[in-house]
Amino acid sequence: MTGLGQPIRDPVAHIPPLQKKTIANVLVAVMDEIQRQDDLARAGKFGGKHTMPGGPEDARFRILGEEVGEVAKELNEADKGVEDTGGLYKELVQTAATATAWAAAHIEEGQGYR
Ligand SMILES: [Mg+2]
Repeated sequence: MTGLGQPIRDPVAHIPPLQKKTIANVLVAVMDEIQRQDDLARAGKFGGKHTMPGGPEDARFRILGEEVGEVAKELNEADKGVEDTGGLYKELVQTAATATAWAAAHIEEGQGYR
C-alpha cells in the first residue's frame, strides 16, 4: 500500500519493453497472414463467402472467435506438456490478422470504399 507522499512503485519496471524490431517483424507476419487469408477466401476456401475483408460482421466475429479459441487450445496443449513448435505464435498472428483485417475493413466501409 502506498501512503501519501510516497512515490508509486512501478511493478513492471524490471521488465524491458518490447523491441521495435520484434514488433515490426510480427506486424509483417500479420500483413502476410491477412494476404494469405484473403487469397484463401477468394479461392473459395471459406465456403464461397468472402469473409475477409469484405464480409459481414458476424462472419468476421466467428472467424476471430475461432482464432482466439485456437490460441486457447495451444495453451491447453502446453499445460498438458505438449511442446510448442510454433503453434502459439501462428495462432496469435492469425488472431491479430483477423482483427486487423476487420478493423481495416471497418475504416474502409466508413469511408465508403466498400
Ligand atoms: Mg488459426
